[in-house]
Amino acid sequence: MKEIILVKYGEIILKGLNRPVFENILLKNIREALKSLGEIEVTRAQAAIFIDPSESVDIDDVIERLKKVIGVLSITRAGVCEKNIDAIKKAALEYCGEDILEEKTFKVEAKRADKKFPLKSPEICREVGGYLFHNLDGAQVDVNNPSNVVMVEIRDFGAYVYCKKIAGQGGLPIGTGGRAMLLLSGGIDSPVAGYMIAKRGVELEAINFFSYPYTSERAKEKVISLAKILSGYVPKIKLHIVPFTEIQLAIRDNCPEDHLTLIMRRFMMKISERVARANGAEALITGESLGQVASQTMQALHVTNSVVDMPVFRPLIGMDKEEIVRISRKIGAFETSILPYEDCCTVFTPKHPVTKPKVEKIIASESVLEIEELIQKAIDGVETIVIEP
Ligand code: ATP
Ligand code: MG
Repeated sequence: MKEIILVKYGEIILKGLNRPVFENILLKNIREALKSLGEIEVTRAQAAIFIDPSESVDIDDVIERLKKVIGVLSITRAGVCEKNIDAIKKAALEYCGEDILEEKTFKVEAKRADKKFPLKSPEICREVGGYLFHNLDGAQVDVNNPSNVVMVEIRDFGAYVYCKKIAGQGGLPIGTGGRAMLLLSGGIDSPVAGYMIAKRGVELEAINFFSYPYTSERAKEKVISLAKILSGYVPKIKLHIVPFTEIQLAIRDNCPEDHLTLIMRRFMMKISERVARANGAEALITGESLGQVASQTMQALHVTNSVVDMPVFRPLIGMDKEEIVRISRKIGAFETSILPYEDCCTVFTPKHPVTKPKVEKIIASESVLEIEELIQKAIDGVETIVIEP
């Protein structure tokens, strides 16, 4: 039987003027994600997207790609048949019979997007349900709590039957929510933070602060690997690598030890903001979580936040480590994040950092530095790499 894939997307955004914008961007993102697999027709109709791969394309590969496209709510393989009730019955038996027999109970639901079809939805359900019941030994109808729901959809193009939905990423399609700059370290948290904001439709760029030779080339490779994992969800990420050693040494040699981390973080934020603006990004994203470390107390966040003048998104702020790890695993970043290469922050960490810093005191401590000069030099040394999946 000929198979197609039906993609459904969220309903909420679909109301009002946003709808065509949302749909066109999702359509474009799906086409882009499937492009390298071969000839695949992607069309939209009646609040769904239909994907029709040519015979040479492996349908499992298509599904694996679709599972990563943000904005896709569910993915369904469906059998296609003629729009007459006998053909639909046979298709339902052939396509869903085995699944039903595995778990025995089922019900049929029908959607009639083509109102010209002679039978109404309840009649379709009755006809198809009766046919399945008589032809599947041991199958039972259970309308309240069935193990299988056989769906029949009658659309303008033809009829489809299916019974299993695969969950997609959900979220809003990338490109509907602007662009933001992710401060990407080599740890567990920041890739998760980037993924969460991307799910709100936001394109990502990434910035990493690199302190060679205190952090090794392998630490840099790790950050590139993490950006690559993220690029499975957010195609094409520009990763900006900032040489940070000179700034860290200047801070270490001239500022009080217990202020080191916060001053360093203020530099990171300022540089990130400038690189963001230069690249059309309108917000910063960090993986900070309230209370996780000394630099993530409320007072410390105020100190780092107060140097920038653009929104800073911290999607992990109220999350526990276990919740963060769960998402990290889900997006396939965890195994890379826990590789043991040092991060630039861990190398210069003070033994007793302040936990309730005052902004004025930190400003006084950093004022001995040639801040503007240091920032400009770091920005001039930025290396930018385009990362693709
Ligand atoms: P992560 O697990 O993301 O490394 P963390 O818990 O180790 O986070 P910090 O090291 O305090 O926390 O960093 C807080 C946030 O600052 C990170 O989530 C990331 O967004 C940003 N950050 C830290 N180090 C770097 C770096 N070297 N380059 C870019 N961003 C960084
Ligand atoms: Mg870190």
